[in-house]
Amino acid sequence: MIKIDRDLCIGCGACVAICSEVFEIDKNGKSRIKQQKNTSCVDKAIKSCPVGAITK
Ligand code: SF4
Repeated sequence: MIKIDRDLCIGCGACVAICSEVFEIDKNGKSRIKQQKNTSCVDKAIKSCPVGAITK
């Protein structure tokens, strides 16, 4: 299961840019899971998150 630590998330948008199928920025300016889907872009998003907020 993909998770985002919303306390860590700074809303940079990198995960959404890389994997918009799974991540979206919500109205609070933080990333949320749009769809639980284990595609290869999830791993790229995990690596690109500057604060290490995404885990699975
Ligand atoms: S890449 Fe990390 S810090 Fe940036 S929006 Fe996504 S979860 Fe938040």
